Amino acid sequence: MRVLYVSTEIHPALKTGGLADVNAALPRALGEAGADARLLLPGFPALLAALQSARRVASLAPRFGADAISLVRGSLAGMPAYLIDAPALYARAGNPYTRANGEDWPDNLERFALLGWVAAGFADGGIDAFRPDIVHGHDWHAGLACAYLAARGGDRPAAVFTVHNLAYQGSFPGADFAKLGLPAHQFAMHGLEFHGTLNCMKAGLFYADRITTVSPTYAREVQTSEHGLGMDGLLRSRVGAFRGILNGVDTLHWNPATDPHLPAHFDGDDLAGKRTCREHLAQALALAPGDGPLVAVVSRLTQQKGLDILVDALPSLVAKGFSFALLGSGDTALEAAWRKAAADNPGRVAVRIGYDEALAHRIIAGADMIAVPSRFEPCGLTQMYGLAYATIPLVRCVGGLADTVVDAAPAEVRAGKATGFVFGKPHADDLLAAFGRALAAWNDSHLWRGLQRTGMAQNHAWSVAAEEYLAVYKELRPQA
Ligand code: ADP
Repeated sequence: MRVLYVSTEIHPALKTGGLADVNAALPRALGEAGADARLLLPGFPALLAALQSARRVASLAPRFGADAISLVRGSLAGMPAYLIDAPALYARAGNPYTRANGEDWPDNLERFALLGWVAAGFADGGIDAFRPDIVHGHDWHAGLACAYLAARGGDRPAAVFTVHNLAYQGSFPGADFAKLGLPAHQFAMHGLEFHGTLNCMKAGLFYADRITTVSPTYAREVQTSEHGLGMDGLLRSRVGAFRGILNGVDTLHWNPATDPHLPAHFDGDDLAGKRTCREHLAQALALAPGDGPLVAVVSRLTQQKGLDILVDALPSLVAKGFSFALLGSGDTALEAAWRKAAADNPGRVAVRIGYDEALAHRIIAGADMIAVPSRFEPCGLTQMYGLAYATIPLVRCVGGLADTVVDAAPAEVRAGKATGFVFGKPHADDLLAAFGRALAAWNDSHLWRGLQRTGMAQNHAWSVAAEEYLAVYKELRPQA
């Protein structure tokens, strides 16, 4: 099974969120399951710098405002990869999608149209003699790949499109459609048009032969008007071609027994190292958590993540004995609110604004709990890292959070299935009630140890997800 895996970021070379973690693990797991999976990514400077054994395999005609375009093949994070070297579009420092001030690059349509166009260009086998059976695009940046493939018609690779977050759709003025070189009939309701605009996410959802998203619950939620962001009708109409496949944990990078970022290691049988991690963390962040639970938050600071609800509840939680360590960046008002909480609660609330991979590991390992109170969450990775690191998750009952954390209700505890605390509505009352239950469990060390043990025993191996993706590919190309 030959798979061209089309995306934009990959850990550790370039990461803005969970997508980079997925891209560092899933193609490798597909390879281990027997597929010939190769990455196709834009030639962002950080990716070109990380590409090993690079060699140029194709020169392409100028397009989308890029005069010189070539394809470079090499190895990225140990996986075969093609990068599109088009300096006019990609040779920009920092974040792959936005300027330093957070504004989208004005030519983002051209930048990601080129990605889709090159992906479809593999269809005839003329590039590096690699003709994929499947072109697998991820999120809106790769959505146009599905439209370009559909426009080719005939005997083409099948298109699979995975939604990692429906909230980012890649929407552009309808007049820009003319830039894409796609057939006019595609700019229609039955196509990539969305209420007069050009929508790259919809291109993926409409033209892909199969659609997946990153958890079963999110797959159901996005078919409702509450969570569908205008795409629910289309997704309902494609329900037979749509499924949720839960993300995994990359144990190469997230394993408390081997994690190089930690001051001490631990496993399910012996948590002594976790206590050392906690002491180091408290010292590094000038925290004095005392006897109460230390709660981690490692997150983008956006409306999605519900951290406004948590920050509002902090005075009451700190009074009950909880301490907090937050690492994140994003929305300036949220950053300010958390900074203020730290200033108001010295020794009990520590806040680090920014992006710091090593500190993220140290916080998740050293804390007793991890809070993910998201309004919506396609899958969420940090709660799964929490489970693997004996750091009990407290999450909202939504999307992948609902699929990965089992609430410590009495029946689930008795059945040995409970792994954390789950709350319902995105309001302070429900959140506080869940923290209250967590505190009671914390004070029952036998119960707490049981939750940790059950969490650490969860199997979130990427090999499980890879088999499900392979099954989707096989439906489309049974002979490959
Ligand atoms: P999302 O993809 O919505 O950002 P996920 O939970 O799926 O959320 O993945 C987030 C990933 O980004 C995790 O690997 C998490 O550790 C990491 N992360 C988030 N914020 C930071 C930060 N400020 N510093 C370091 N890593 C971070």
